[in-house]
Amino acid sequence: MTDPVALLQELIRCKSVTPEEGGALNYLEKLLAAHGFTCHRLKFSDQDTPDVDNLYARRGTAAPHLCFAGHTDVVPVGDAAAWRHAPFGGEIADGHVFGRGACDMKGSIAAFVAAALEFLKQHQPAGSLSFLLTGDEEGPAINGTRKVLEWLAARGEKIDFCIVGEPTSRETLGDMVKIGRRGTLTGKIAVQGVQGHVAYPHLADNPIPKLLTLLKTLDDMELDKGTAHFQPSNLEIVNIDIGNSADNVIPAAARATFNVRFNDQYSGASLEKKLRAALDSVGIPYQLKVKAGGESFYTPPGKYSELLQSAIKKVAGLTAELSTTGGTSDARFIKQYCPVIEFGIVGKTAHKTDECVAVKDVAALTEIYREILKAYYAGA
Ligand SMILES: [Zn+2]
Repeated sequence: MTDPVALLQELIRCKSVTPEEGGALNYLEKLLAAHGFTCHRLKFSDQDTPDVDNLYARRGTAAPHLCFAGHTDVVPVGDAAAWRHAPFGGEIADGHVFGRGACDMKGSIAAFVAAALEFLKQHQPAGSLSFLLTGDEEGPAINGTRKVLEWLAARGEKIDFCIVGEPTSRETLGDMVKIGRRGTLTGKIAVQGVQGHVAYPHLADNPIPKLLTLLKTLDDMELDKGTAHFQPSNLEIVNIDIGNSADNVIPAAARATFNVRFNDQYSGASLEKKLRAALDSVGIPYQLKVKAGGESFYTPPGKYSELLQSAIKKVAGLTAELSTTGGTSDARFIKQYCPVIEFGIVGKTAHKTDECVAVKDVAALTEIYREILKAYYAGA
């Protein structure tokens, strides 16, 4: 039997801080290949971003095709001296497995791989099962899931349903499933003025009050009232940058940065249009550069959310809330190809010092994933 806790310890011991593969994908490739999965290592490159290694492993060729997706890369340790347990040690103490990535998201990977291997020992499902594992989720996310999906589409491989193992549980394992995530857009706005002496303001043009007027317009906007399954879209001003160290100089330019988390009422493009229209109506000249960080995704409640909820209920005894809160994930790329839902371990210590997961949660999550596999192929 594949022990998910031992598997998690092995994965934590791989120093896979983005963009390093750290041995994590090698380990999983070997394990999956030994269990009849056809494995592809996919290393992608792009301008101004590190090369990243990915793993796609599939068993079976028929439909329906269920895919578990995740990332083996982890965020940096931060202050290593502040950790009570070695960040790449995979130590077990007080009923928890400690280490960077334990909850985000090697814990879920260990659980879904162990669940699949156990399931395949007992069943010959009519259909296929695959793993899409990237090393580029915590980083720029350019050479990861998005390119693997493009590679799959070019080969004519179709996924019918995808589960992303991000740590979606909030307090208790199984209390939350994500059926959507908001999109994100960053705007950099600048106003040009004319530099001059503060004592002779008629010879200068101060850009700061103008920028403040524009920012007030953005901050006052009600983007929407929320939609059936999403909270309202929200804009936050995150930085104002004047860069003026003198108290007797009117600066030449003023800049600010804002970020919007938007729901399924907008695309990045339609949101940009709305923001520009509001700014244009003020009548102050400005420059705006917008960077779309990802569209929202939404899989309406239905057979897939019910599949997850009933497996969770059976093992953990609770009804998972269907949520669309939180930051972005690779599901924003997957949603272009198939229905996608995120479900994984409790995320409380993600990215923190002494990141850890409860041993009993890893075991229960494995059990839930196994129930999902049983129900998915039984219904096929
Ligand atoms: Zn993650």
